[in-house]
Amino acid sequence: MPEVLVIAEQRDGRPRTVTYELLTAAKLASPDGGVAVLWRGKIPDDGVAGELASRGAVRLLAAEWPELQAYNPEAETEAIALAVQASGAKLVIAAHVSPTRDAVARAAQRFGGGYAADCVDLSRTGGETEWLRPLFAGKATEARRLVSGTAFVTIRPNNLPAAGVSGDAPPTAFERLAPPEGGVPKRVLVREVAARVTEDVDLGEARIVVAGGRGVRGAEGFRPLRELAQALGGAVGASRGACDAGYCDYALQIGQTGKVVTPDLYIACGISGAIQHLAGMSRSRVIVAINTDPDAPIFQVADYGLVGDLFEIVPMLTEEIRKR
Ligand code: FAD
Repeated sequence: MPEVLVIAEQRDGRPRTVTYELLTAAKLASPDGGVAVLWRGKIPDDGVAGELASRGAVRLLAAEWPELQAYNPEAETEAIALAVQASGAKLVIAAHVSPTRDAVARAAQRFGGGYAADCVDLSRTGGETEWLRPLFAGKATEARRLVSGTAFVTIRPNNLPAAGVSGDAPPTAFERLAPPEGGVPKRVLVREVAARVTEDVDLGEARIVVAGGRGVRGAEGFRPLRELAQALGGAVGASRGACDAGYCDYALQIGQTGKVVTPDLYIACGISGAIQHLAGMSRSRVIVAINTDPDAPIFQVADYGLVGDLFEIVPMLTEEIRKR
């Protein structure tokens, strides 16, 4: 019987990268126990089942309910609770993303077990798992041990490696999870889901991020950053300073209260490097900072620092990259 239940995140019928990161966490937390996966929404093709199995899932449950088409916290909570019961899992691992984290908290409350939210890592000592959570914008780390009942954990995307493919996966197909007897409670009514216009490349999963801060001076100032991001095949992000000033949408915000990104290359343009911003990007592999102020704190975390005007430097970079 699986010991761990992973709540899959998907987009357009494909698992999001974070789903594979959750499988890594499941294997680390329970090296000898099986892993079940809950899929919410339309059952995907056999290729997805095979992919999940090859990365460690031994049982696949799918809640293909009409109530899960648009976000509905009650339906999500029911799906997670029924999957816990069906799988018999003692540990539930989900992504710390909206809106899933809302439903995980509700399910955890229902089972009365321990709950560790927003974890970035785990450690195993003497057969016990400690879930590590950053506090105070990453200045401190809390290690939380969940000792009773069914435990629930949410993990920030982009912190653990994605589970790799192992060649010896047994064939696994999705099993349908029936809705609750009597139907999903109807205390919450979702009237409309308005799709937000997003960047071409998903910021959370982009391998290259070009981010702008208050130094871009206005919405128009993001144009050279978009051109650079396009030339590199990356996504555009922003500091909260830029979002607060109305230069861009809050969906682009990176940091303690925004998205956490760990791309291969992060180019910070006109961003001072406040601790709350660093909390969202300091684990990027290579950091390039462009800033007119040689004393800007962002240079302390940068691998390459360019002291100068972003409006001169960024177009030069774009031009050079387009030549290649
Ligand atoms: P500034 O600090 O104003 O820096 C602008 C920089 O641009 C300066 O360094 C300047 O030298 C440079 N510059 C100006 N003109 C140019 C030019 N032409 N070329 C090159 N460089 C130029 N912030 C986040 O980013 N993310 C968060 O999630 C976040 N969460 C927060 C949560 C809390 C509870 C609090 C209190 C704050 C949070 N903040 C967050 C805000 C954070 O403290 C900073 O205020 C914010 O990051 C500053 O944004 P900035 O670097 O764009 O602006």
